[in-house]
Amino acid sequence: MTGEVRISHPVWTRLEETLLADRAVETKAFLLCRVLESEARVVFLVRELVQVPEEAYVQRTESIVEIRPEFVHQLLVRCAREGYSLLEAHSHPWAPNPRFSKVDDRSDRQKFLTTQSMSPPFRHGSLVFGSDMSFEGRFWDYQRGQMAPIARLRILRAPLETRYGTGLRPAALRVAEQSVYDRQVRAFGAEGQAILGSLRVAVVGAGGLGSQVAHALALLGVGQLILIDPDRLELSNLNRVVGASYAQAVRGWRKVLALAQRFNRARPPEQRTIVPLPEDARSPRALAHLLGCDLIVGAVDSAVVRQYLNTVAMCALIPYLDAGVGIRSEQGQLAQGGGQVQVIIPGETACLACVERGIRQSIEEQLTPHQRALSIRGGYIQGEVIPNPQVVFLNGVVGNLLVWELVKLATGCAPVQPYVYYDLLNQHVFPARAERNPDCLLCSEHPDSLLGQGVYGLAGYLPQRRARRRAKPIPTPRGE
Ligand SMILES: [Zn+2]
Repeated sequence: MTGEVRISHPVWTRLEETLLADRAVETKAFLLCRVLESEARVVFLVRELVQVPEEAYVQRTESIVEIRPEFVHQLLVRCAREGYSLLEAHSHPWAPNPRFSKVDDRSDRQKFLTTQSMSPPFRHGSLVFGSDMSFEGRFWDYQRGQMAPIARLRILRAPLETRYGTGLRPAALRVAEQSVYDRQVRAFGAEGQAILGSLRVAVVGAGGLGSQVAHALALLGVGQLILIDPDRLELSNLNRVVGASYAQAVRGWRKVLALAQRFNRARPPEQRTIVPLPEDARSPRALAHLLGCDLIVGAVDSAVVRQYLNTVAMCALIPYLDAGVGIRSEQGQLAQGGGQVQVIIPGETACLACVERGIRQSIEEQLTPHQRALSIRGGYIQGEVIPNPQVVFLNGVVGNLLVWELVKLATGCAPVQPYVYYDLLNQHVFPARAERNPDCLLCSEHPDSLLGQGVYGLAGYLPQRRARRRAKPIPTPRGE
């Protein structure tokens, strides 16, 4: 059992400022979190930073920090009432590579034993940060009655930042991987390649666009790929679904099974096999997989599913990359065509619900009046994809624009463009403005927004019995 912390960039910045404001003494802060539970992992989704006012300290020196019990008691009451878990963070501000001290060990154990009777899924954990905000962390595993490590902390910014607990850095590239990915290591370094190899990415949609994305991610050496799509292959898919065969289309294979079989063959045996999930993305099983991912990719033609993936991403603090394409043809002449890629980092960039109006204006400013009229008539700029026609080269361009943003987001090898638009007729790629809506119901820092709400924000998508009995963990994804 290990733990993970996901924290939005603004909250992380405030935590850093709080803990390192005075480098002469230890400082304490509390993080109110939702938790995602699976058999092997507990994910703490940070909702709120609670600072400790000066009068709530009992003592505070360069090696001791003690808080008044009443202050902690109030927080625990709030946790019980509002369903939060609690992470206690304190600083060892004089040096990097922090370790819990013997005093920390004694006091944590005592606290955890005191609060372990609180109704699950209350989770109690503790983090110690060094002078460079590197950390060691642990939480109480009440099933085994012992402390378990918090292995990593993910900061949601561009590029995505993952910090590993002291002594818990993952292994470097294996020899076989070094050979296969040699030319990529030359592009984004061994560390960048190792990051790709450590990622777990869900690709929702295995059609013309999704198959392009999945194929590229499989070749790039993304560690674990989960392909989600309930559809079966048809002959009319063969002009654009990369990796599907004629025989599979005749037999009506599930798209994800065909793609997983084909793409697995291109990967070294050390890589984990691609997981095909022939289900609707909104099924409980697919949701369990989505919640365990590092990144979610949406390549679907349904506005409802895209909004659902956006909601999952906000609730679980997972970056979401969305792509869409559209073509408009008049009597054999392409009148309009293109696609867009959006990188959505919860708490940092605009989400799908934020952008509709702003993006539309920004793109339309860059189109000719004729194109603008067509796009407004066609409606696809709003993300409402026109079902036909479909061509492989447009999917290839837009799918790979998305893959490139994903690589930049994960490795930091170049700056991320949160919104990119591709104009097919003019062969023109341009970024567009995507302003966050400060009042967005989904992604704002408003106390009632869905940001970091975990399964609380998704209760409507869980089977009724399970939504009511919150203590029961959601199903565990394979490979956990
Ligand atoms: Zn939003």
